[in-house]
Amino acid sequence: MDKIDIADDQVVPMEAIARGLRGLKITFVNVFGVTHGDGSWTLIDAAIPFSASRIQSWAEDAFGRAPNAIVLTHGHFDHVSAAKDLADYWDVPIYAHPLEFPYLTGQKEYPPPNWAAGGGLMPLVSPTLPRGPIDLGSRLRALPSDGSRLDLEELPGWTLLHTPGHTPGHISFFRNEDRTLLVGDAFCTTKPESFFEANLLQHPELHGPPAYFTSDWDAARLSVLKLAQLAPTTVAPGHGKPLAGADVAASLQELAMRFNEVAVPENVKAT
Ligand SMILES: [Zn+2]
Ligand SMILES: [Zn+2]
Repeated sequence: MDKIDIADDQVVPMEAIARGLRGLKITFVNVFGVTHGDGSWTLIDAAIPFSASRIQSWAEDAFGRAPNAIVLTHGHFDHVSAAKDLADYWDVPIYAHPLEFPYLTGQKEYPPPNWAAGGGLMPLVSPTLPRGPIDLGSRLRALPSDGSRLDLEELPGWTLLHTPGHTPGHISFFRNEDRTLLVGDAFCTTKPESFFEANLLQHPELHGPPAYFTSDWDAARLSVLKLAQLAPTTVAPGHGKPLAGADVAASLQELAMRFNEVAVPENVKAT
């Protein structure tokens, strides 16, 4: 495939989202860097194809060193595409939930997108969609689990939560100390139609997971409910701006309660 250049104005750093948490928006998707007490840091997600050099230079400015690991919320192409190049460059492991492995080891592709559910301009990025299944090769590691809880020593102070529905092995990250929540695609703070307009002055609000790629809506609803019960004060999503404040928990509670009405697409409800 030819190299596709990502324009400068499509790469927007997000500073000080919460203590030790910053992000980088690349076109329509976010990656995050979590700094730990000892100065080490972890990269959460790895964006679209051709974004590795953008993430590298952001990381050099922001952290001045390689991360201790790359951790993936899930395996969709817009969250993993730079992972292999970055892991090779930094010589670090890539962690994902074992249920995402078929989609990250070249065995399987996700079900085809439900564009009728409202993909907005997403079909326009189809030239950057990977051809064939993604294979992250030997860098990929399963998140350690003792059967009931996921744990990762590279992310001290953070709880990893299995939040399936958008994909089978989707995970979210919660720091109890200041109630900061990284949600991947469990829900968004922008409508999918607005993914490419997020620099306009739009009021961020909570929406369900990206509809065209969500495979199990019952599980997705239960995952949002589980996240709402954490009563977060800051949420940082894969798509849309991070949100913070006293009313975040109540908004998320409302999204969980009205999930079928506001998040589940009409053509899924009809079946
Ligand atoms: Zn996704
Ligand atoms: Zn996504």
